[in-house]
Amino acid sequence: MAAEDPQKSGGPSKLVIKNIGLLLSGDLSRPILEADTIVATNGRIAAIGRARDVDVGGATTMIDAHGVALAPGLIDSHVHPVAGDWTPRQSQINWIDSYLHGGVTTMISAGEVHMPGRPRDVVGVKAMAIFAQRAFAAFRPNGVKIHGGAPVIETGMSEEDFRDLGEAGVKYLGEVGLGGVKDGPTARKMVAWARKYGIQSTIHTGGPSIPGSGLIDKDVVLEADTDVVGHINGGHTALPDEQIRCICEGCRRGLELVHNGNERAALYTLRTAKEMGQLDRIILGTDAPAGSGVQPLGILRMISMLSSLGEMPAEIAVCFATGNTARMRNLDCGLIEVGRAADFVFLDKAQHSAGNTLLDSIRLGDLAGVGMTIIDGIVRTQRSRNTPPATKIPEVVSV
Ligand SMILES: [Zn+2]
Repeated sequence: MAAEDPQKSGGPSKLVIKNIGLLLSGDLSRPILEADTIVATNGRIAAIGRARDVDVGGATTMIDAHGVALAPGLIDSHVHPVAGDWTPRQSQINWIDSYLHGGVTTMISAGEVHMPGRPRDVVGVKAMAIFAQRAFAAFRPNGVKIHGGAPVIETGMSEEDFRDLGEAGVKYLGEVGLGGVKDGPTARKMVAWARKYGIQSTIHTGGPSIPGSGLIDKDVVLEADTDVVGHINGGHTALPDEQIRCICEGCRRGLELVHNGNERAALYTLRTAKEMGQLDRIILGTDAPAGSGVQPLGILRMISMLSSLGEMPAEIAVCFATGNTARMRNLDCGLIEVGRAADFVFLDKAQHSAGNTLLDSIRLGDLAGVGMTIIDGIVRTQRSRNTPPATKIPEVVSV
């Protein structure tokens, strides 16, 4: 179906989605919108409203949501891709396409650290980052947007190296601490250089993830001052609660909770951020592929875990994986707003969930069923092959 979309052949496109039962905005301050129709032209959201109030004429693709919920496509703030849709970590192929079936339409690399023979010398680090940035910008499995090319800092890097990387289009650093730089002062200096040249940063927080990585404690995290506190709930080994609290209170940076981390520490971080009135700092990732494997439903699982055990309204938990991440990571998707990328996931309660509604089912800890995904206004998948089956699914109707 996607192959027939006029946008793919270069023509103008107009996507109309009608009969949306629940519109989840991704915006913490207003997580549910009073609207049932979205129009997207040429891959961008053009109108949001009630059917009678928006211009639905001239659609090239029409979708009847049949009353199911629509949310921004989910964003995984922490993945470790290598090349193409393949990971050597658990010898898997098509893992990115499988994530799309879990509602993830955008991924941010926290470093291509599983690359066999990963270079550690400065010119090699730069070359690999630029290669990965280029390759993932050009190759999008089933449309999934992968922000790859995230160099892991090594000792000996100079300000000029960060300028070169920034000028070459590199936008994110891999996790500080996975390379040779593990001390606060050096990390702080390089993170500041990166920021100066438009490159965002994250850090490996907690104990070693696999043999060869090391401990990064609260002192190093706070001194390094990365834009995101990567997996503050450990990957997997978390810092003690008092250190997690120190980090939450000691900076205003993003607090990333990952699936491949300590779930109790994730809930502790969530409660702390809630007490502080700073839920806008919470973003979600899977931190996969990793020793724990690949989790196509990892972001949906985090949403249900944080909503049910963290006693968080489901529509708020969805914001952690959409609007919060988009704002913090400077992405043009993740929110249902005019002008944003038309990247959507359709959700409904899973068949036979004890919940009465989608939000109720998530609050009870069940996973949502994905009925369809759309990226850049193009239908990419229909009923998910991975989630429990959604009760109702949207349908492409003839125009
Ligand atoms: Zn890590």
